[in-house]
Amino acid sequence: MSGHISFFKSVENYVDKAASFTDIPRGLVEQIKACNLVLQIRFPVRVGNDYEVIEAYRVQHSHHRLPTKGGIRYAESVDQDEVMALAALMTYKCALVDVPFGGAKGGIKINPAKYTVEQLQNITRRYTTELIKKNFIGPGIDVPAPDYGTGPREMAWILDTYQAFRHGEIDSIGCVTGKPVTQNGIRGRAEATGRGVFYGLRECLSHAEDMAKIGLTKGMAGKTMVVQGLGNVGSNTALISQQEGDAKIIGIAEREGSIYSANGINVEKLMAFRKETGSIIGFPGTEHIGDASAALELECDILVPAALENQITLKNADRIKAKIIAEAANGPITADADPILLKKGVLILPDFYINAGGVTVSYFEWLKNLSHHRFGRLENRFQNEAFTGILNKVEEMTGKTINAREKDFLTRGGTEVELVNSGLQDTMVVAYQQIRETLLQHSDIQDVRTAAFVCSLKKIASDYVSMGIFP
Ligand code: GLU
Repeated sequence: MSGHISFFKSVENYVDKAASFTDIPRGLVEQIKACNLVLQIRFPVRVGNDYEVIEAYRVQHSHHRLPTKGGIRYAESVDQDEVMALAALMTYKCALVDVPFGGAKGGIKINPAKYTVEQLQNITRRYTTELIKKNFIGPGIDVPAPDYGTGPREMAWILDTYQAFRHGEIDSIGCVTGKPVTQNGIRGRAEATGRGVFYGLRECLSHAEDMAKIGLTKGMAGKTMVVQGLGNVGSNTALISQQEGDAKIIGIAEREGSIYSANGINVEKLMAFRKETGSIIGFPGTEHIGDASAALELECDILVPAALENQITLKNADRIKAKIIAEAANGPITADADPILLKKGVLILPDFYINAGGVTVSYFEWLKNLSHHRFGRLENRFQNEAFTGILNKVEEMTGKTINAREKDFLTRGGTEVELVNSGLQDTMVVAYQQIRETLLQHSDIQDVRTAAFVCSLKKIASDYVSMGIFP
């Protein structure tokens, strides 16, 4: 929650603001904004010698495309408003990156660290059973995925539970994504959100004239970056930006506090250090600068809040010194802090764009599941032989030889992870170009968030119109 208004209301406000730059009829905007279906569940689980009543939700925000899609989070912050807001963001996210799904989200109000693996498995399986009972899960209905506090392990439990009830359903493996690779998952899904953040940032940084406006040169190399949260999204964003983009990571924040080093922090080594010691504090060459929110206030080119919502609020917005904020988490900036940052000239890459990599690769996983084969399996050898034939002909006709390494690169088909990453990169780049185009067309739109909402709204509205529901 942000000050007085709820998280869901703040998403609605952003949508209303964007809608005012379009000619979408008011009634249609109201339909797009509304949550279509909300499931509130209470179920008991045995914990030690007692029972505990677990509070859980699944919200399907929009049925304009099916299935609906979105993660399931395990966090103490979970309540109906939060899940509704996150489900709504999924709708705009999917539309923005052309993933043909409606938005959904699930949440279980627990701190997973307080339960044993066995108890977590019980909770997950019971939750899945409730979803099955209410027809809230299925490859053509609603497809969950990981979110804060969940991962491939939970997705494997969900799949197994679903299959126990839907034995023989041919597409059952597509009932959930983000599964382990050995359980019908797809390579590249685990790091997809962080990798997507990297591709989105790199694209944004590639436009010299846009960067000049915020006092930056073009390109990621050498840019200073601060990351809050070393979970799946934050750690992969930091690692990939450092290893493939040559970004200089100068600050990291985690539950236990914030660290800083003007010379840069080796993220891979830091992760190993945290695994060993349980903390980032004390990592050689870094300074302990305060609690988990201290790093947010560091002077840097790029700030990546990758933990939970409500991190940049009225309380600290004034002290933020970053030039670009990439909202890797969902809702890290509260609605009242957003205008303060914009006024300071901060370029904000909104959550439903910059963290869309996860659902994009979930879509690839779902496609793989429904097609029942691995991408490339059918065509790789054929393509290899055809390309080898062409290269041989080229050699014959030119009298020149192509070296073995080059030949190998030019003739082999992509591996699964290469295809996934290239599809992900293309998705993030194309979506950014659409947002940028919208900004260029509307001189009255000042921020990326509004422009991105305009893109999503137009696509969803056109879906409704083609259904014949709205004229
Ligand atoms: N939970 C992720 C998100 O917020 C991924 C959703 C998905 O893969 O369906 O986008």
